[in-house]
Amino acid sequence: MSIQRLSDLLIDQIAAGEVVDRPAAALKELLENSLDAGASSVQVELQSGGVKQIKVSDDGAGIARDDLALALARHATSKIASLEDLERVASLGFRGEALASIAAISHFTLTSRAADDQHAWRVESDGGRTSSPEPAAATPGTAVEVRELYYNTPARRKFLRTENTELAHCEETFTRIGLSRPDVALTLQHNGRALQRLPIQSFTQRCTALLGEEFAAAALALDHGTPGLRLHGLIASPSFNRSARDYQYFFVNGRCVRDRLIAHAIREAFHDVLHHERHPAFVLFFDIDPARVDVNVHPTKSEVRFRDPQAVHRFVFHALQNTLAQSRAGAGAMPVAADAVTTPVAMFAASDSAGFAGTYARQQPMQLTARHPTALYEIMFAGSAAPTIRDDVPDTAPPPLGFALAQLSGVYILAQNQAGLVIVDMHAAHERIMYEKLKSALDRSEIPTQTLLIPATLRASRLELAVVEENAPALQRLGFEMAVLGPEALVVRSVPAPLQDADPIDLARDVLREIGEFGASRVLQERRDEMLSTMACHAAVRANRALTLPEMNALLREMEATDRSGQCNHGRPTWTQVALSELDRMFQRGQ
Ligand code: ADP
Ligand code: MG
Repeated sequence: MSIQRLSDLLIDQIAAGEVVDRPAAALKELLENSLDAGASSVQVELQSGGVKQIKVSDDGAGIARDDLALALARHATSKIASLEDLERVASLGFRGEALASIAAISHFTLTSRAADDQHAWRVESDGGRTSSPEPAAATPGTAVEVRELYYNTPARRKFLRTENTELAHCEETFTRIGLSRPDVALTLQHNGRALQRLPIQSFTQRCTALLGEEFAAAALALDHGTPGLRLHGLIASPSFNRSARDYQYFFVNGRCVRDRLIAHAIREAFHDVLHHERHPAFVLFFDIDPARVDVNVHPTKSEVRFRDPQAVHRFVFHALQNTLAQSRAGAGAMPVAADAVTTPVAMFAASDSAGFAGTYARQQPMQLTARHPTALYEIMFAGSAAPTIRDDVPDTAPPPLGFALAQLSGVYILAQNQAGLVIVDMHAAHERIMYEKLKSALDRSEIPTQTLLIPATLRASRLELAVVEENAPALQRLGFEMAVLGPEALVVRSVPAPLQDADPIDLARDVLREIGEFGASRVLQERRDEMLSTMACHAAVRANRALTLPEMNALLREMEATDRSGQCNHGRPTWTQVALSELDRMFQRGQ
């Protein structure tokens, strides 16, 4: 094919692929335009999850008649005019491509009345052709109506999921915008039914309305500033934590962003007070001189780049750490995760003399006299044959990882093998074993399920419900059986057999969130290992869980039988060997 210029319509449709990947993305652009126009009240009306219709009406500045067509043109914006403007941009929009992109893939109507006009004007656009303005009746402000999104881009339309899923994403967008601007009244309607009605209210009231009473009750206020930087908002005290990263809203200069650096600073600040598999909840606003942050990194503007990332990291970390520390020193109001305060040392050494001085062979009776393997023992290794413990060990090859002696600090298993001392990070090792089990089960076809004796019910979001409705086969492959119980409830009936010890609700939430965010096929393919690793982490023995010697030995035997068990899922070692000769050196024996 010879080289040709793309038509304007095709260019807009290509851009739309990036900017408007789903109805919620179009909604975000329209809401941002309303806020940029100074609106104090914005109404959203959706039909069929936004696929059939997204209508956003505001009472903002409006657009003059002669600018209407321009508003729909690509690279036309009233918000910046120069590179200097871009470098200091304070508005949410500035690329001038949202309306053009949306109009290129929908039946589009723009009605607007500037403050000092007698009446409104309306333009329509269909497949990229814009009509000339016609008079219309409307109050001052702007209304954008987007109908049949993707009607002319069938490939993109195929990626749309059900009404409920798309609606859930639209609600998430609405929540983000709502949290960022409590000074703007917002309503959300779907298929004629009101879902949210938010008056102009205080920030705390807005958080309560959107995130619930529980969050608000646990919230600690934070306001921390140095010249040119300010961090303010609410963080939930660690007692209110989540199994998923859902209640995490971070706004940079009013724009909701996902940023690794920030996420890391926040995780570090919560490190001491939150179990590492739980996630903090927060709504935080970070205000920084626009010249010190680049928002033009991605067409959807959901990423930013800081000019001085180290300084930002330090600032966010310290602001949070201070707030958390102050709340702790106060009325003792802050419950700390239970596992952070339990006795640091739990020794479950053998009752006889088979300690470090015991010989290898003398340990054997310990294996055999273990009388009460706990439920954990069965749970940990359900489905796999229990490791056989032979009483003729002195005649056979000793197991490489030896036999357990004790548990140290609730974290490590100490064992003795022929070379000397073996130290095992029990959580990391168990997690790896679980992960490998899940992987090989899924490779074979699907993960075996275990029906729960008592099904677990949970309050579910619309997105979670939609994911369950739409993904039964994928969930089954992962070992789950779940069903919708009502408009806000789910039941988990079965969980993956290797994970039957995990909290089924936390487990289900994580899996639903992954599928909701990435879709079942990605979760089962390119994101498979991540998903399985998250699942494994739920089931792995927690720190400070007292293990009996048979349990510890069972874990050692499983490690020996498991591929790649030398590293945990995150690449850290799961065990280490301290040779007798090293110990001898430490004690200057034989010198
Ligand atoms: P951008 O927001 O990046 O400028 P858009 O394509 O979203 O680009 O919008 C183009 C222009 O249309 C905006 O710069 C603004 O002047 C005008 N506009 C869009 N929506 C509204 C609105 N709700 N109220 C007033 N003006 C609007
Ligand atoms: Mg815009």
